[in-house]
Amino acid sequence: MSHSYFTRKLLNIKDKHITFEKDYLEEVKMKGVTSFIFKGILSYQPTHCEHCGTLFDSKFKKHGFKTSRIVIPKVSLHDTYLELKKQRYYCGHCQSTFTLKTTIVEKNCYISYHTKHAIALEAQNKISESDIARRHQVSHSTVNRVIHSFYESQTLNLNYLPENLCFDEFKSVKSAQGHMSFIFCDADSKQIIDIIEDRRLSSLQTYFKRYTKEARSRVKHIVIDMYAPYISLIKELFPHAKIVIDKFHLVQHLSRALNKTRIRFMKKFKKHSRKFKRYWRLLLKSHSLLNTTTYHSVHCFKQQMREIDILNFLLDLDPELKATYDLYQDLLFALQTKNLERFNHLLQETPSLISLEFQTAFQTFKTYQSYIQNTMTTSYTNGPIEGINNKIKVIKRIAFGYRSFYHFKSRILMVQNLTKPKVKILAA
Ligand SMILES: [Zn+2]
Repeated sequence: MSHSYFTRKLLNIKDKHITFEKDYLEEVKMKGVTSFIFKGILSYQPTHCEHCGTLFDSKFKKHGFKTSRIVIPKVSLHDTYLELKKQRYYCGHCQSTFTLKTTIVEKNCYISYHTKHAIALEAQNKISESDIARRHQVSHSTVNRVIHSFYESQTLNLNYLPENLCFDEFKSVKSAQGHMSFIFCDADSKQIIDIIEDRRLSSLQTYFKRYTKEARSRVKHIVIDMYAPYISLIKELFPHAKIVIDKFHLVQHLSRALNKTRIRFMKKFKKHSRKFKRYWRLLLKSHSLLNTTTYHSVHCFKQQMREIDILNFLLDLDPELKATYDLYQDLLFALQTKNLERFNHLLQETPSLISLEFQTAFQTFKTYQSYIQNTMTTSYTNGPIEGINNKIKVIKRIAFGYRSFYHFKSRILMVQNLTKPKVKILAA
């Protein structure tokens, strides 16, 4: 085995036309950093002329070399380059010259497929693009370009939609048309299907109309939060889809209303305001989870108390607060235990004495009653999308914000592992 063979092995170069001379490795300082330069020669007999296509014969002459410096993955953590002398040929048939090609790099490009592949793989992690650029000895814009090229390879199938979908939104980048961007995913496989720049009704209508009617008719359940435009969108474009309101959003809606009530009472009972402030969590906590057995010394009170005692103390201050709290707990219990009968029964009654803030929430629940019933009869939630949204926040933070929406989108899709590296890059 020759040293060329082992060097190719070391650098993971599959192109056997590349050979190395005796003193092929040079250590130089480039921009103050010690770098390795491997000197290789690319030479083989071409099959035909690149320009006129004539098959190789005696009229082909060797015509010097063209040298280019190609970025390749690091060796021993040093920046590494391959200085490749590429054989040039002169074609006597068309009087023109051409340079031999190699499989390790694209034509007119100085960054090897291996490096591009490594960048694409690294972009799937939560790491900033300038860090990727530094690690692979390329510029930030190269990292950008590689990520873009992956995004372009993702094509949508407009004839197909999964049976169960999740709709959600996230705060987008500044350049995006809408303040919020729309994201939807398959509720079963948890894969993102697409991200749309603007979540406003008109743009969503235009977007979903691109899908065939058959694809849209296939959808059976769509999980949404309580955002009215989604409902009109689904009614218009998804004829067989049941609307499911996300359980988490329902609970959040209730607890917000109760919290507003608490704040009003905190201002009313100035003497106890600290207690209201400190123990806000006890009001929102599910009643069955409260501690009823062990006594602890607590702030704001002079004696040892259980959680339930603190709660009762606050509720006894005002009957309106008590009534609101009871209704909140009833609704919460019905939701959590998926007790449809109990839930419908609660909504039928017109409760007296409950706070104004909670009445509004109660009315919303009445309006969306049929959709909330779907929540309790199916197991679909927006859980998968919430997880994705958390990742999006991380991506945004590590990149210190994104200017281009499309770039942001391709990065999200990459991190979510949806875009597979292009075949071209894999083949290298
Ligand atoms: Zn020719």
